[in-house]
Amino acid sequence: MIQDIAPHRLANEFSAERMPSAGDWLLSFRKNAVLSAADGLRLPKVGDYSPDDLHYAFSLDGVPVWLTDRELPESEDLRYIASAEYRCMKPQEIAFACTVGESLHRWYCANRYCGACKTELRDSETERALICPNCRTVRYPRINPAVIVAVTDGERLLLTKYADRPFSRFALVAGFCEAGESAEDTVRREVWEEVGLRVKNLRYYKSQPWAVADDLLLGFFCEVDGGTTPTLRDGELKLAQWFDRGEIPDDYSDISLTGEMIDRFRSGKITVDK
Ligand SMILES: [Zn+2]
Repeated sequence: MIQDIAPHRLANEFSAERMPSAGDWLLSFRKNAVLSAADGLRLPKVGDYSPDDLHYAFSLDGVPVWLTDRELPESEDLRYIASAEYRCMKPQEIAFACTVGESLHRWYCANRYCGACKTELRDSETERALICPNCRTVRYPRINPAVIVAVTDGERLLLTKYADRPFSRFALVAGFCEAGESAEDTVRREVWEEVGLRVKNLRYYKSQPWAVADDLLLGFFCEVDGGTTPTLRDGELKLAQWFDRGEIPDDYSDISLTGEMIDRFRSGKITVDK
């Protein structure tokens, strides 16, 4: 998965003492594209631009990474690379750092002013938060919990395809947690809404920070309970089909939790007792 970057390490710890240095990395976004070296995924240095509006983002292998709200000029050596392109590029630790930075960038851009009194917000000096100097409202970055669900029936796995998305590879049932709902409730509701099946024996697998969309994905395996014929119910999918373990197409992303879960089942590393 994209966050599996060991032995590299992205550290989110906040530190108020940090001051930008010329050799630190710089993240600049234009919509969902990141400024990088033109000949590969490599970030510019703070000292190359010295912008004065920097937010501390995180560190990568001990080197501080800073965010600017500004678009910077492209050149022969630097260009903006779209998210859909850069997240599949190497080195993976830079691709992952860019997705996390893009999520923070979206949050800073969407929270320039206080929603209560319209005063311009300022960075907190003690934590990753924005504070209103007038009414003291504090805003924190928000992430959206969602589930990824591998529904199995013995040696079969239910694969899906989305109806209206550019992403055309096979996927699993997925959906956002609603207010007042546990992740397990979400699994049961989404499977019922998307493919009209009931499930049992839910088992949590792993999570993935999918910063591309500000999500935290929670992966579950579960077994179909009762009827096994999928019915496309809510129009979100164009396909839902059972595949025997040996016939699962090798057509899924290797950076996503969905891809890893499909691969684990396909390779027999997740076995399911009936
Ligand atoms: Zn305010």
